[in-house]
Amino acid sequence: MDLLNTLVDKGLRRELPTRDEALAVLATSDDDLLDVVAAAGKVRRHWFGRRVKLNYLVNLKSGLCPEDCSYCSQRLGSEAGILKYTWLKPEEATQVAAAGLAGGAKRVCLVASGRGPTDRDVDRVSQTIRAIKEQHGDVEVCACLGLLSDGQAERLRAAGADAYNHNLNTSEATYGDITTTHTYADRVDTVHKAHAAGLSACSGLIAGMGESDEDLVDVVFALRELDADSVPVNFLIPFEGTPLAKEWHLTPQRCLRILAMVRFVCPDVEVRIAGGRELHLRTLQPLALHIANSIFLGDYLTSEGQAGKADLEMIADAGFEVEGADQVTLPEHRRGGGCHGSAPSACHEGGGVCGTAAPVPSADEPRTDLVAVRRRGAGTDLPPNA
Ligand code: SF4
Repeated sequence: MDLLNTLVDKGLRRELPTRDEALAVLATSDDDLLDVVAAAGKVRRHWFGRRVKLNYLVNLKSGLCPEDCSYCSQRLGSEAGILKYTWLKPEEATQVAAAGLAGGAKRVCLVASGRGPTDRDVDRVSQTIRAIKEQHGDVEVCACLGLLSDGQAERLRAAGADAYNHNLNTSEATYGDITTTHTYADRVDTVHKAHAAGLSACSGLIAGMGESDEDLVDVVFALRELDADSVPVNFLIPFEGTPLAKEWHLTPQRCLRILAMVRFVCPDVEVRIAGGRELHLRTLQPLALHIANSIFLGDYLTSEGQAGKADLEMIADAGFEVEGADQVTLPEHRRGGGCHGSAPSACHEGGGVCGTAAPVPSADEPRTDLVAVRRRGAGTDLPPNA
């Protein structure tokens, strides 16, 4: 396929594809899907080999957000039955982070709900960063605290943060349909602030919110323009109790095409499969590892992921290796930072009764059975999934 040969050549040279080429990836047929994955895989292996970076989310503060992001289970007015709690103490956060690191994660992503941190919040998170770094010298720490005010990125950097995450989520044209309490420009500004403070910028998207192919290409081109070091690709988890609860648009094949498009447009950045991985890719998750070089281990912010052990087995079975603390994620020309991704949340954990055959759902049926609110780890007395 000429298109794919062209995209591989451009990816190996870090040359930006045209918008039409990016759109054409999203429009490929199921018959061409394995060719698309193989082509994106060549670009992925050129820059990242067969390594998979594991990241671990610690939800420092859950729910009760005054913002109205319609995809989010923590939003103002959300009726999703998620865990709600205020700031974890540094020692509590460190304990949760340690479980993820013991499971193989090399980056800890410290996330808090809210529009943005107060200076006191930045102090709290700085204490947590220092506590984690004291115990785990080689860990990468990414903070994700919302919109930053002047000087806050510098303070996080001084406390030892390596990266800051703030997702663009969707195209500028449709941003106002998703959120009304802040703007796309606010989000871009925070990514600039992180960059300017010497933090590695992590910024990504959420697919499956009813956007067009043009919107997806717009947001991914914007992320390339922002020069994010890592791009988390979330697949919407349509939480009951949120405005997007009925938006079930994604298929595993569509998710693979989206990931491939992201890889071709941002060939040398850490492409992370984020929230919604288990829910939407389902049994095709291992194929996605041929495109993306990074995942979250264990649970998401407000929902459960598959068991950490299953993540590790999947990586090994698919012929990939977990990236070690002594390996550098980014290619030489991008070094000088790292990054995270705020995932809205994702999925599952069985639910059937042993010995009974569960009915096989049809391919286009919403898989509400795979959405499980997180009830373990941070903010609970139960051990975290790692
Ligand atoms: S995405 Fe962040 S800012 Fe938006 S509602 Fe959720 S927690 Fe609040």
